[in-house]
Amino acid sequence: MKECNIEENLKNCKCTYTSCGKRGRCCECLRSHWRSGELPGCLFPSEIEKTYDRSLKAFIDYYKDRV
Ligand code: SF4
Repeated sequence: MKECNIEENLKNCKCTYTSCGKRGRCCECLRSHWRSGELPGCLFPSEIEKTYDRSLKAFIDYYKDRV
């Protein structure tokens, strides 16, 4: 199994909550948000990401007319 490349993940992380201990640890990030009915910040456009609203509702509201 390939090891997680945290440095590479950090380079590509769009999350602006920079003090979060899960940055670069995408599996932990996803698991944590999914447990709360949310999605990781990287799945949102920057204008929503910066509000820290990671809810499924925010995701669906944004993308429902764009797909
Ligand atoms: S999306 Fe959430 S869990 Fe992931 S790095 Fe940002 S604040 Fe942390």
